[in-house]
Amino acid sequence: MVDPFGRAVTYLRISVTDRCDFRCAYCMSEDMRFLPRRDLLTLEELDRLCGVFVDHGVRKLRITGGEPLVRRDIMQLLGRMSRHLGGGALEELTLTTNGSQLARLAPGLAGLGIRRINVSLDTLDPERFQAVTRRGDLGVVLAGIEAARAAGIRVKINAVALKGVNEDELGDMVAWAHGLGMDMTLIEVMPLGEVEGDRSDQFLPLHVVRERLEARYTLTPLLDRTGGPARYVRVAETGGRLGFITPLTHNFCEGCNRVRLTCTGKLYLCLGQEDAADLRVPLRESPHDDGPVTRALVDAIARKPKGHDFVIERARPAAVRRHMSVTGG
Ligand code: SAM
Ligand code: SF4
Repeated sequence: MVDPFGRAVTYLRISVTDRCDFRCAYCMSEDMRFLPRRDLLTLEELDRLCGVFVDHGVRKLRITGGEPLVRRDIMQLLGRMSRHLGGGALEELTLTTNGSQLARLAPGLAGLGIRRINVSLDTLDPERFQAVTRRGDLGVVLAGIEAARAAGIRVKINAVALKGVNEDELGDMVAWAHGLGMDMTLIEVMPLGEVEGDRSDQFLPLHVVRERLEARYTLTPLLDRTGGPARYVRVAETGGRLGFITPLTHNFCEGCNRVRLTCTGKLYLCLGQEDAADLRVPLRESPHDDGPVTRALVDAIARKPKGHDFVIERARPAAVRRHMSVTGG
C-alpha cells in the first residue's frame, strides 16, 4: 500500500480498547465516558482485519489503547496475531502499555514471540506517579518492567515531558533507564481530546529539555530513523539511546509509514487529522468475503494526508477532539 505521497504503509497501530485502569492527567479526563462494548470489534473481527492488513504489506503491528492489557481477551488476540510472525509475513508484533499488568502477563507475552515493548512511565517518584496517573501504583509498574526484562523482552521507556511535573527528574530517569539497558523516548504533550485544565500549561517544548540535558550529558545525534517521529541521540555518559518525539515543534510527517485502527474499526490515516475510514461496516456486511473491506482500506490509503496540523496555541481546548486513548498512542 503506497499513499499519494509515495510513502509505503507498512506499520499498523491498533487500539484494542479505549478503556484504561489509569487516568493520566494529560491523556484522559477524570470522568471519561468509554465506548459501549457492543461497538468494539470482536476478537475474530480484529484478527480478520489484521490478516487483511498483513496481506497488503503491513510488516509491523503495535497493539495499544487505552490500556491494551486490560482487554479481557488480549492474550488470545495476541496469540492469533502472532501466527503471522511464524510465517514471516509479519516482522514484528509489539505493544505499548502502562505496565500495570506486566508482572502477570510478561512470560506469556514473551512466549508469543513479543521481543520488545514500550512502557509509558513519566516519573520515578511514587507520589507524583499517583498524581499523574490518578490511580496508578509505581511499585506495580516497576515490578512489571522487571518481569518483562526477566522474560527476555526488551523494554523502552516512554515519558511525556510535563511542565512543572517531571521536568526536574528527566535527567535522572535517563540515567535509570540506561543503567538498566533500556532505551528511553521523551514525548511532547499533544492536544488530543479534552482534559481538565489547559494543555498549554502542561506543554514543555523538548528543545528546552534537550538543552538542560546537554548541561549534564553529551548527546550525539544518531541517523537511524524508524519511519516514526522520534529522533535519536546517543548519550555518551550512559551509552544508551534517547529519543525525542516533537510533533509540535518539528514536522516529521515526510517519512510517515503508519496508520491507526481504533477498537471500533475506524482507520485514522494521521494522528493529527479527523479523517477516518470505517472498516467495521464492510467487515460486518461481508463476513465471508474480504473484498469489500480490502477496497475500503485501499481507498483510505489513497486519502492519507500529507501531514498533521498541530499548533498548541490553537489547541484550546483540543486540536483534535478524540483522546489519544481512542486512536492509540
Ligand atoms: N495505555 C498505554 C500507555 O500508556 O502506554 C497505551 C496507550 S497511551 C495513549 C500511549 C502513549 O500516549 C503513552 O506513552 C502516553 O504517555 C501517550 N499520550 C497520551 N496522551 C498524550 C498526549 N495528549 N500527548 C502526548 N502523549 C500522550
Ligand atoms: Fe491510560 Fe495510557 Fe492514557 Fe495513561 S496514557 S490514561 S495509561 S491510555
